[in-house]
Amino acid sequence: MKRTNQRLLAAGIAKKGFRRWYERQLIDAHLWLVGCLVAMILVAAGVELATLGTGTAERLSDGALVLGGLAAGAYAFRRYLRTLMVAEFIGEQADCPGCGRHGFRVGQQSPIGSTGSGSPAYPHAAAGFDELTAACPRCKCHWPVRLPALGPEKPTP
Ligand SMILES: [Zn+2]
Repeated sequence: MKRTNQRLLAAGIAKKGFRRWYERQLIDAHLWLVGCLVAMILVAAGVELATLGTGTAERLSDGALVLGGLAAGAYAFRRYLRTLMVAEFIGEQADCPGCGRHGFRVGQQSPIGSTGSGSPAYPHAAAGFDELTAACPRCKCHWPVRLPALGPEKPTP
C-alpha cells in the first residue's frame, strides 16, 4: 500500500508539475482545516442543544451530534496535517541545486527510484523512502526528491 500511494503521489506531481501540485495540496489541506472548524461548530451546537433538551430522545440526538462532530473533526484535522506535511516534505526539496529555482518537473529517468535502502545513485536515500528524479526547467539540472512513506490513506493526486 505504501508503494502504491507513493506511485500515486509521484504520478500526481508528474501530471501537474510541482508548482501546480503544491498549490493544490495547500488548497486541499486548508479545505480540510475548514471542515475541521465546521465540525467543531457542530460539536459546540450539540453541547448547547444538550443543555437545552429535556427528553431522552433529544439528549441522544444531541449526543450523536457531538460524537459525530468530534469524529468528523478528528478525521478532517488528520487529513489537514497529512496533506500539509506531505506538501512541505516535498516542497523542502524543490529548490534546484544548480540555479536555486523553486519547483521542478519530474525527470524522465525514474519516476520512482530506490527501494528505500539507499540506491547507489542516491546514497543519501533513507530507509522507508522512495524517490523521484526532479528536473529543473531552467538549467536542466537533475536531483533526487524523496517521497514520504505514506500510510493507507490515498494522497490527493
Ligand atoms: Zn536549475
